[in-house]
Amino acid sequence: MHTETAHVPRKESLKASIPLLKNYIGGKCVESHAEEHLSVTDPSIGQEITRVPLSGVRDVDDAVRSARAAFASWSTTPMKERVQVFFRYKMLLEKNASALGALVHEENGKIITEAMAEIEKAIEVTEFACSMPQLSAGEILEVSRGVECRLDRYPVGVVASITPFNFPNMVPNWTIPNALVLGNTIILKPSEQVPLSSMRIAELLKEAGLPDGVFNVVHGGQAAVEAICDHPDIQAITFVGSTKVAKLVYARATSHFKRALCLGGAKNHLIVLPDANEEMAASNIAASMCGCAGQRCMAASAMVAVGSVDHIIKRLCEEARKIIPGKNLGPVISKQAKERIERYITEAERDGAKILVDGRGATVHGNEGGYWVGPTVVDYVRPEMKIAHEEVFGPVLSIMRTKTVDEAIKIENANIYGNAASVFTQSGGAARYVIERASAGMIGVNIGVPVPREPFSFGGWNESKFGAGDITGKSSIEFFTKLKKTTTKWNPESKVNWMS
Ligand code: NAD
Repeated sequence: MHTETAHVPRKESLKASIPLLKNYIGGKCVESHAEEHLSVTDPSIGQEITRVPLSGVRDVDDAVRSARAAFASWSTTPMKERVQVFFRYKMLLEKNASALGALVHEENGKIITEAMAEIEKAIEVTEFACSMPQLSAGEILEVSRGVECRLDRYPVGVVASITPFNFPNMVPNWTIPNALVLGNTIILKPSEQVPLSSMRIAELLKEAGLPDGVFNVVHGGQAAVEAICDHPDIQAITFVGSTKVAKLVYARATSHFKRALCLGGAKNHLIVLPDANEEMAASNIAASMCGCAGQRCMAASAMVAVGSVDHIIKRLCEEARKIIPGKNLGPVISKQAKERIERYITEAERDGAKILVDGRGATVHGNEGGYWVGPTVVDYVRPEMKIAHEEVFGPVLSIMRTKTVDEAIKIENANIYGNAASVFTQSGGAARYVIERASAGMIGVNIGVPVPREPFSFGGWNESKFGAGDITGKSSIEFFTKLKKTTTKWNPESKVNWMS
């Protein structure tokens, strides 16, 4: 298959003219009606790689019409047939994994091993979707003599998936396979900062045999999202991004009586006890704070050091210093992000925190135009400081000191977010105490990034998620289907009972 995205410029051809990206509607790349295009840069070099249209109401409407038209036939195709597309899609993800990883690396900046991990997770979610016929079979029961009740799942209709910049391939794949195997048709609105991976996903879905119109991509930002929220023929919306926008999207979508599930930002606390295994704690925390340059909703952002843990902090700083921008640490997404992250560090220092490892002003020889921030460890942070309770979204760890586990839990509980929390200890009892009291949807014990693997579902608590259920796993079956309950009586000799 050959579509427009085959022409995505690579680094070596950057000087060639930069093509404008198109939307993907009805199985074709189509020109957007947008009047404005936004420059997309490779964050490692700070140079433009493509330009993305800022689509609006007309583009969203075109995509919805295409998705609606495809729904009639796709939703009535037996699930056992629909799932065959995703067996093939999974194999195509595997076959193209290196190229998909390279594309993620190019548009998002994360290092290749991290980009490949993202593709592996996309494959895992697709495998889960392939088990959907087994997982989502209906139920039937004889509820009275000769009378049976039967429960069937129906797709909800045209759904939309709005995604963030930090996982250009994985987050779209959180929803696409599950929503489509369950019989919905979809409009993906990827982040305007990383629009390329979604076009490659479109190509692979087509190659896997997905009928035209079942999957559509509309590029853009706020205007496209608002048009999605307002469109009367979109039945459900998933959103993944910052809490500020998650709230806006949830409020707007539900005001139009749509089903909505909006995942927001995070501030994940790691509670470290003195008995923790020094090597395991230090290496896990360093990897968690720096992985994907700290631009993960599961990243370690605040460490609560309980009692005498100086030995672990010292080791953690040694581990952090081994993480080198341009080598095993990617850039952050933009110049603005770099400035914001460095501002948090500088303000904390001004307010009395102690910088143990300082990543401000990092550069990479040969890639000076990239948006680099080195690993940063800030000690003696106080809970009232901005760096302690706001989402920094960079390779920065704030350390707060407490005397007791209860004080540490109080700090964790006071944060508005609730995506993840971890405890580092060798005591099962202490771990259990924290697990039961942490106010977060995903908990780790001696694990820095406690992402639940399939079939366990992904989703936080508090202001890290708006709407019921989780976005992946069995929860996604509830979100992407509606239940029909049918009561049947065939035999005239069946007695009339109190219900019939
Ligand atoms: P963002 O909220 O800026 O953007 C997310 C999406 O919303 C994008 O598609 C963007 O185009 C759109 N958007 C931006 N501003 C908008 C507005 N005013 N109105 C309507 N739509 C708008 O998020 P981001 O910077 O792309 O991603 C980083 C954020 O995502 C972080 O807060 C991170 O924690 C969060 N995130 C959360 C999870 C999770 O599972 N909870 C996963 C990944 C990322």
